[in-house]
Amino acid sequence: MSLPALVEPAAELSIDEVRRYSRHLIIPDVGMTGQKRLKNAKVLVIGAGGLGSPALLYLAAAGVGTLGVAEFDTVDESNLQRQVIHGVSDIDKPKGQSAKESIAEINPYVNVILHEERLDNDNVYDVFRGYDLIVDGTDNFATRYMVNDAAYFLKIPYVWGSIYRFDGQASVFAPSMVDDAPCYRCLYPEPPPPGMVPSCAEGGVLGVLCASIGSIQVNEAIKLLTGIGDPLVGKLMIYDALEMEYRKLKVRKDPNCALCGENATVTELIDYDTFCGAISEDAADAAADATISVVTLEHMLKERTEGTRDFVLIDVREPNEYEINSIPGSVLIPKGDFLNGSALEQLPADKPIVLHCKSGVRSAECLAIVKGAGYADAVHVGGGVVAWVNQIDPSQPTY
Ligand SMILES: [Zn+2]
Repeated sequence: MSLPALVEPAAELSIDEVRRYSRHLIIPDVGMTGQKRLKNAKVLVIGAGGLGSPALLYLAAAGVGTLGVAEFDTVDESNLQRQVIHGVSDIDKPKGQSAKESIAEINPYVNVILHEERLDNDNVYDVFRGYDLIVDGTDNFATRYMVNDAAYFLKIPYVWGSIYRFDGQASVFAPSMVDDAPCYRCLYPEPPPPGMVPSCAEGGVLGVLCASIGSIQVNEAIKLLTGIGDPLVGKLMIYDALEMEYRKLKVRKDPNCALCGENATVTELIDYDTFCGAISEDAADAAADATISVVTLEHMLKERTEGTRDFVLIDVREPNEYEINSIPGSVLIPKGDFLNGSALEQLPADKPIVLHCKSGVRSAECLAIVKGAGYADAVHVGGGVVAWVNQIDPSQPTY
């Protein structure tokens, strides 16, 4: 079932534009009218990262007249494996600026509006207002829920996508366009427990997966803007790159949804960091008086080498992370072994325990488990191996 086009057609296309978009114009479903709708369209892309990069490139090439880019980060070398809108000469440059330059190179007819502040409750309405459609390429749950709620309150439809390792998902949330259409909260009423779902920075992502999902998002955006085809409203697309399998599941509106349900409890923007809990309460309690710095750890390791101190340093990351970088003298016991209890059998009863991970979130979760098992003097390393490489051993790579 196609929906009415989101955008009215622009008055006309210039001769240059007709030449440029000729491969669109000869598709009967798009044609002159569809292309004029794209020209008149205002689309906001949140994030110029993994999903935002291909999304912005194709939206620009397709002739979307106004593209907003909400991005506050700068380009890092580790982004280039998948964030194809940026290049080597863009490293350390603001991502928004870099994206704007790439777009100008592809299609100078696109008007780019940069929103170079971190989206929060105070600015999200001002940023969103005036756009016909949003393409969400965020990588964290707090922002995702905020985007969903703000888009719902402003009645702006959006195309959502998410990626992790070899798996991707996409959907269109458009309760303002279709009466019984679900929102993101209907699909995911609650965020996963903190520390349970690693981010792409922690778990990795296959670079080309960004293009697979980002291009689905653009595909849906073009359909909504021009009113063609059957958009992913009320449907969840699931993609498995290893099996090369696409599956489409029905997503129904949840009558008990906290946002769009009959007795909604979310009636304005909420505190999304608290809702998604950057770290669980148990972990925060465990880490409160048991966090050491990498400088302290370096000192302790020196004493251990000299034989004046003994302790066990446990890295709770995954084996492939350990291969990239590690703190010398650490032993690897992945977090999963703490969750299923098997790690506890491997812990020495007579030595103090020091835990670390990449940044300190997973090790805090493990610390709560270890302390709960009776190791009252266990500690973890704040900032994890990232802090170690930055402050103690810059010769190792980071990821
Ligand atoms: Zn809902």
